[in-house]
Amino acid sequence: MEIVPVPQLSDNYAYLLIDAETGKGAVVDCAEAAPVLAGVRRHAMRLTAVLGTHHHFDHVGGNTDLLAAVPDLRVYGSADDAPRIPGITHRLRDGDTVEVGSARGRVIMIPAHTSGHVAYYFPDEGVVFTGDTLFAGGCGRLFEGDAAQMMASLARLAALPDDTRVYCGHEYTEKNLRFAATLEPGNRALQGKLAAVESLRRANRPTVPSTIGEEKATNPFLRTDSAELAASVRTRRPDLPAGDRVALFAAVRQLKDRF
Ligand SMILES: [Zn+2]
Repeated sequence: MEIVPVPQLSDNYAYLLIDAETGKGAVVDCAEAAPVLAGVRRHAMRLTAVLGTHHHFDHVGGNTDLLAAVPDLRVYGSADDAPRIPGITHRLRDGDTVEVGSARGRVIMIPAHTSGHVAYYFPDEGVVFTGDTLFAGGCGRLFEGDAAQMMASLARLAALPDDTRVYCGHEYTEKNLRFAATLEPGNRALQGKLAAVESLRRANRPTVPSTIGEEKATNPFLRTDSAELAASVRTRRPDLPAGDRVALFAAVRQLKDRF
């Protein structure tokens, strides 16, 4: 399965998934139909499905225009979010399967950024689409869930094999890693990744995909077991209860909100 990032709006990514065997394909999230349809033509693929990660307009805002251009599209999204996903035809629950040509993806419920957020994991391809829950170097804001729920959702993604490639919803990586480096200046994997990401961005290239292994080594929201991270947060939040991972996670999220 070929995966092609399609820039959307100012810093979103849609992704074209193209099954080489059948020529059929899907798009993960669509804010703007025109660039997605241009990509479909350029790759001579047959668009059969939209895989929506969550209901925010910068992930589903192009659905109606896509359906006007390709009327028999399957539009997948969380059953919990169905009223908020334009054009939805397939209402998904945890563990459900989505089809992209001959490839099969598994739905993983990962609520907190929104209450019905899902990831799409393709085990045979070793790829996961994480929307606005797991970003390279960060995580989504807690709009419809709390810190404990986001930690549980991220833990489900972190349990995937380390070499799983991670495609997320926004190009936030450089800023995320700059924030991460303020909390773990001694993390060499983080410093190395930040340097690599800065050079990609200078060349105006995408920083996706990351991998689950890289995220576990560099993403502060997956590193609440790091003594250096805990000590850094404690210098800014001396009142933080000792040994409370959820409180530590919530404090990191609040610090990031103001970074
Ligand atoms: Zn969002």
